[in-house]
Amino acid sequence: MRLSIVREVLRNIAKKPSTLAYPVRREVTVAPGHRGRHYADLMKCIGCSLCAIDCPANAIAMEKLPQQLKHNPRGVYPVVDYGNCVFCYQCVFVCPVKAYTTSEYFEMADYSVSTSRELSLSSIRVGGQA
Ligand code: SF4
Ligand code: SF4
Repeated sequence: MRLSIVREVLRNIAKKPSTLAYPVRREVTVAPGHRGRHYADLMKCIGCSLCAIDCPANAIAMEKLPQQLKHNPRGVYPVVDYGNCVFCYQCVFVCPVKAYTTSEYFEMADYSVSTSRELSLSSIRVGGQA
């Protein structure tokens, strides 16, 4: 028993580590189609709230639009809390107008962008009509 442990230790000392020292080393790749950071494009969103109602993690809050967009008569838009989101993409699939912009971006372990608010607001283009 003890001999097998010693053999195992020696074998692993000689091996390369199985893990990366992330974030010191950043050469991390994700599989194609990885469900990463997403946000609603407000030039498409009609404010129906379906994504917020259907979210299994209760990670979406509907907030008041800072400006009225003609195609969004309700004047609200979804804000995803990435800290609560489980990245199932149910919101993306259920949206009737395909308003969500998706990405494979996953490096969100900081407080700088903890929700989709700024990304969605920056999707409003000058003129404000889709
Ligand atoms: S990806 Fe899933 S958990 Fe995240 S906001 Fe959308 S529905 Fe909710
Ligand atoms: S389901 Fe689509 S259109 Fe409806 S609020 Fe969500 S993002 Fe907007």
